[in-house]
Amino acid sequence: HTIGDLIDMQAEQKPDQEAFVFPAQNIRKSYGDLKQDVDGFAAGLLKLGMQPRDRVGIWSPNAYEWVVCAFGAAKAGLVLVLVNPGYKSHELEYCLNKVQVKTLVAAEGMKSLNYYQMLTELNQGLAKGTKSNRTPHLEHIVMTGQKVYPGTLRFEDVGSSGNKENYAKLEQIAELVQFDDPANIQFTSGTTGNPKGATLTHHNIVNNGYFGGRRFNFHQEKDTRICCPVPLYHCFGWVLGSLCALSHGVCIVYPEGKFDAEATLKAIHNEKCTTIYGVPTMFSDMLYHPDFHKFDTSSLRSGLMSGAPCPVELVKKVRDKMKVKNILVGYGMTETSPLSHVSFLGDPAEYVTSTVGRAMDHVETKIVDAGGRVVPIGTPGEILTRGYNTFLGYWEEEQKTKEAVTETGWNKSGDIGVMNENGYVRIVGRSKDVIIRGGENVYPAEVESCLHHHPSVVEAYVVGVPDDRLGEETCAWIRPRKEVTEKELKDFCGAELASFKVPRYFVFLEPDEAFPLTVTGKVQKFILREKSITRLK
Ligand code: ATP
Ligand code: MG
Repeated sequence: HTIGDLIDMQAEQKPDQEAFVFPAQNIRKSYGDLKQDVDGFAAGLLKLGMQPRDRVGIWSPNAYEWVVCAFGAAKAGLVLVLVNPGYKSHELEYCLNKVQVKTLVAAEGMKSLNYYQMLTELNQGLAKGTKSNRTPHLEHIVMTGQKVYPGTLRFEDVGSSGNKENYAKLEQIAELVQFDDPANIQFTSGTTGNPKGATLTHHNIVNNGYFGGRRFNFHQEKDTRICCPVPLYHCFGWVLGSLCALSHGVCIVYPEGKFDAEATLKAIHNEKCTTIYGVPTMFSDMLYHPDFHKFDTSSLRSGLMSGAPCPVELVKKVRDKMKVKNILVGYGMTETSPLSHVSFLGDPAEYVTSTVGRAMDHVETKIVDAGGRVVPIGTPGEILTRGYNTFLGYWEEEQKTKEAVTETGWNKSGDIGVMNENGYVRIVGRSKDVIIRGGENVYPAEVESCLHHHPSVVEAYVVGVPDDRLGEETCAWIRPRKEVTEKELKDFCGAELASFKVPRYFVFLEPDEAFPLTVTGKVQKFILREKSITRLK
């Protein structure tokens, strides 16, 4: 199927089924309503003169307009570019030019960011409606919200501007678009450096959403309601959120524009959600929210934790304190659409807490050494996957694509994992983060997991810092729950880990200090590494 086929199919089969709920905007839409809005916006995009495969960018926090634009772009045969809502104007400029965005849909101002002001900064000709030389490919800017901004179009007006001819063209496009045509350009999180634009096909993402949902049994449940606080701009929130809900014809709730622990708990409570998604930091923010006990989360049957290393203690707490019986842990990356591995419902507890499950249906996986040879069961190596979910390539980056995908179609993850005899994979860490201390490999995830067991530690991240004698030394960053000394933590690690793995340095976060995070909530270790060096001087 293409994304457009699914919209039509659900609108026909389940017109009255509740589909998308955005409580912060007070919006509830059925599959019937959704199709109407999507077709309207798709026709409007054609009216603007957009041609098949032209790029339309969406630059917005989570909002109903986001999904209307995304589905509308697919129906109009365009390629959607998911733009990070946290970008400042120079980052936006880079992204727009990199993939030649012709129409940009942007949100009205948020508390922290004024999108219109940034666009004006970037596009001096905005008020006159002419192209600027900084973004020469950009022809139209569409703003959400009620206000009229000089030089831009209103989202609502575009949605109602399509004429008969445009609607007729939509039907032709539906025949023309093939499932393996590009649908999205999604940028990676930028955890290890500059974000990379990965091109994904309809086939990649529709199937990943669908098969992701099957692991939860969404194809057999009647009353699934997903709570998704993860950003739509990232594949987790969009593919495993919106496309999963669409392909199974179930309801999805997006609590707030930007992640907010309280709004998420409230959405679970008010909307009686049955499934909760999140990256680990989101779960931990909810669990430690001072008003946690005021919300009823007993409607939750299952949850998906993914996107970054999932600490054992956290997975257990979600099960025990949030009462989520089936918490599944998933692993994947933008380049694999995104999910490649996930647990099964009913997996033994120790499997869920220590592994990321087995490869998704119809996806192969192997663990190889530096020379590309398969390693024995139980031995760490790089995780490679192959299947319907392997991306098409980095947009106009042939060289980088060649480095990421082998000639026989295996995607090289850059992550180190261990497979057990049943095919379950444990993530050991990123190859880029491995600390080589005097010739011995220290995997930060192992040390972090040990530190998480300490009752005074809320969060812990371990990075390597240069050392004259050993090459690298380990440095642990700690967000403490209550006062704790370096010695106490060293002794604690020493009792559980070989001495070369015990962090040499400890840095404690100040109460008002935050870890450097990507918009998807992941700690950017390359920045933490630089910060450690200045901090330890
Ligand atoms: P960039 O590629 O720009 O550095 P990124 O790799 O973080 O950023 P994403 O594609 O969003 O961008 O994230 C994929 C990565 O997230 C994986 O390669 C892996 O390192 C990490 N990851 C995802 N799920 C898990 C998990 N369950 N456990 C450990 N790590 C995970
Ligand atoms: Mg990556």
